[in-house]
Amino acid sequence: MRHVGGGGAHAGRPGAVAHRVLAATLLAGLLFAGLRPGAAPAAEPEQRFAWPDGARAAVSLAYDDALDSQLDNALPALDRHGIRASFYLQLSNPSVARRMAAWRDAARRGHELGNHSLFHQCARSKPERDWVEAHRNLDTTSAEQMRDQVLLANTMLTAIDGRAERTYTAPFGDTLAGGRDYLPGVRAAFVAIKVGSNGGVVEAMDRLDPYAVPVLAPSGVSGAQLIAIVKQAARQGTMVNFTFHGIGGDYLGVSSQAHEELLRFLAANRRLFWTDTFLSIMQHVRREQARLKPASTPPGAP
Ligand SMILES: [Zn+2]
Repeated sequence: MRHVGGGGAHAGRPGAVAHRVLAATLLAGLLFAGLRPGAAPAAEPEQRFAWPDGARAAVSLAYDDALDSQLDNALPALDRHGIRASFYLQLSNPSVARRMAAWRDAARRGHELGNHSLFHQCARSKPERDWVEAHRNLDTTSAEQMRDQVLLANTMLTAIDGRAERTYTAPFGDTLAGGRDYLPGVRAAFVAIKVGSNGGVVEAMDRLDPYAVPVLAPSGVSGAQLIAIVKQAARQGTMVNFTFHGIGGDYLGVSSQAHEELLRFLAANRRLFWTDTFLSIMQHVRREQARLKPASTPPGAP
């Protein structure tokens, strides 16, 4: 009977003796007001963006490029803490061929294998990009070539993990292929896309474009610094997107100790922080955005 009153002044906790009397009074009150019990107005749905189970912020841990140190150091630590993360594979990286069973196993344990393109093309024309090989120069790759390759990468990832839904991280956040933005040509194949690398903590969830999610790519930082960024996301009630590279090895590294401190903090504060794959988080974000703006087009939709 507790739902009859619909909350408000009648939502007290009746004792066992008074229960029947109170229920009868409530029913009479509803009839007097011209309402049948079944027609009690539904509670107003929350009109603000909300994370599952009252979490204050979402945390996405992502590891780009398919590096050995991720399999050797990051993955065992994540599994030890029961935390799911996203691994963005550059499919031409030798580690994918050499250790495919390990990547497949990671997916089987609930981690996400994300698309990070076949060849990691990026713009040689940008400062300090002399090292970019001519055949992997995004400046001289057409938007159509990038589209074909990125879609093929999705097929290859499905061959590895059997999944149909995917997210993408644009290598270095570069989007101009042969001078044209190639992302509009691949959006339909993804739940969400990460670009850029100067953000990390999202400003406002209702305004976030799922196809232009900012990331932070920390390297050489301490556990305390990483935790401070997570706390900032909680203050804003939004999300933070970490894009790691090497963990305890490889390049753009974060030490295994700093990584471990972050995981320990997240595992100890699961009710405050929802740490999950980028795919799961963005599926939730899109559902919430649709709920809050049912009549309008979601941001970034083609
Ligand atoms: Zn990368």
